[in-house]
Amino acid sequence: MKKVLVLGAGYAGLRACKRLAKSKQDLEVTLVDRTPYHYDATQLYRVAAGSIPAAKIMFRIPDLISPKIKFIQDEVQVINGEQNTVTMAEHGEIGYDYLFNGLGFEPETFNTPGAATDGLQISNIENSTRDAEALQTALEQYAQTKDPKFLRVVTVGGGFTSIELIGELVHMVPKWAKQYGFKRDDFQITCIAPNFLGMFNEKQATYAKRYLEKKGVQFILGVTVNEVTDDGVFYGDDNQFIEAARVFWTAGVKGSDVIAASGYEEHRNRVLVNDDMSLTAYPNQYLIGDVSAVKEPQSGRVYPTTAQISIYEASNAVANFENKLAGKPIVPFNYHSLGTVCSLGPYNAVADVALGGLSVKINGFPAAVLKNIIFKRSSYELSGLKMMLQS
Ligand SMILES: Cc1cc2nc3c(=O)[nH]c(=O)nc-3n(C[C@H](O)[C@H](O)[C@H](O)COP(=O)(O)OP(=O)(O)OC[C@H]3O[C@@H](n4cnc5c(N)ncnc54)[C@H](O)[C@@H]3O)c2cc1C
Repeated sequence: MKKVLVLGAGYAGLRACKRLAKSKQDLEVTLVDRTPYHYDATQLYRVAAGSIPAAKIMFRIPDLISPKIKFIQDEVQVINGEQNTVTMAEHGEIGYDYLFNGLGFEPETFNTPGAATDGLQISNIENSTRDAEALQTALEQYAQTKDPKFLRVVTVGGGFTSIELIGELVHMVPKWAKQYGFKRDDFQITCIAPNFLGMFNEKQATYAKRYLEKKGVQFILGVTVNEVTDDGVFYGDDNQFIEAARVFWTAGVKGSDVIAASGYEEHRNRVLVNDDMSLTAYPNQYLIGDVSAVKEPQSGRVYPTTAQISIYEASNAVANFENKLAGKPIVPFNYHSLGTVCSLGPYNAVADVALGGLSVKINGFPAAVLKNIIFKRSSYELSGLKMMLQS
């Protein structure tokens, strides 16, 4: 019997478990996660904005995996590749014959002073819940003092997380205005970033920006933030200051810090994997999801970190693991994106969808409906039928 260890119950780890549970090989599979629940990370911005409760995107891990798989709740500290063991906070060292590492992403601060301490992060249930509480506290402080500074929010970054968060905040403002006694225009959201929605073409990015500007959002683009403090941010070459009660640090992600702690050859905690998702240095290790780096064959650039690709990588890794045990050739990594949807609040979005080899651009309410269908489908699959992430 081969001992297989899966680290992380995110999209990649759970998909790997699903596939491993169906394996005809004689396997003893153990899944490790620091929390007892899986969370839909693509919806964390809604928890951070306070528009949905965290419980709506949390799913108990034992309910999602086959009874054949053992679940251990613990913090992974380091992977000891030479010894084929993993060191965990509570359980000490656990051995494996094969490892599937899906430890996922963490916020990337680019060593910006104050980003980790004074910036609000959106990377898990705990910090997203804290963000919503911090926003509530600022609103309550405004209600008590009428000081407008408590109604100022800055988001750092022009990517998915920042823009989806802004869309959600904009949606919440009318409700907060009524509840806490201010005019809608009094709530000021400023987005500071070097660029804006780079994954969409210019037309769609402009659509998104104009829509949010009409809702009163201010964009300061083409600059980077130099420092985050407890009452604002310094940005740009001339180090200008903008006051804010809350600063969301949504400027990018890196892989899990366990990667750096384990001594892999990495870039921003992501490790370049072979075509079969294994590592050259440790062929019995498969890296899947945001900790892995796979190059696009045409451009040579590393694929972005997405839930979609994480799921695909996990399926590919398990298929190749089984082929390896069966002495069959590898299944090369051949990924085709289904498209991208960026929410601008519950009723608006931009979508670039792959349909029959064509890239179809959809803006507005239909794109928001599409985003909602994707969310509802994944929630239903997770909670309803234990059909977890089936292809
Ligand atoms: C706000 C937001 C919106 C997004 N929107 C989209 C989208 O629309 N479409 C899309 O495709 N992608 C989207 N993404 C990206 C997507 O969420 C990630 O690419 C995806 O979550 C990566 O999946 P993963 O399985 O690699 O890791 P994760 O989802 O990060 O899961 C990692 C798991 O490992 C566990 N873990 C981490 N460290 C440890 C440790 N040391 N010990 C034990 N357990 C640990 C965590 O608890 C977690 O369960 C979005 C991300 C964010 C933040």
